[in-house]
Amino acid sequence: MPMVPCVRCARFYKVKAVGVTFEEGFPTENGWRGYKLWAGDLYECEGCGAQAVIGVAQQPLAEHYQPGYVDRVAKANPVCRVNDCTGAFNPEKAAVLQGGAS
Ligand SMILES: [Zn+2]
Repeated sequence: MPMVPCVRCARFYKVKAVGVTFEEGFPTENGWRGYKLWAGDLYECEGCGAQAVIGVAQQPLAEHYQPGYVDRVAKANPVCRVNDCTGAFNPEKAAVLQGGAS
């Protein structure tokens, strides 16, 4: 199990649940949609209650283009959907770069 210190509390996160899922979102012109279903372990700081999914698998459990994706996500009961980008594309930043930000 990885050691994950909470910087705020100076305590280690503890394992709260093993084998949880979360869904990764993907930005579109009409907002975020489901993209990939991932699995990992849920950790929690007993000091501040912050949670994180750590030890995420290298490959997703399912991807949006696969048959039955929506049902698979529903059955997995993900702890959250992450509507954020790990890569270079970010719709808010793209809007600013294109002069479209308000
Ligand atoms: Zn904490």
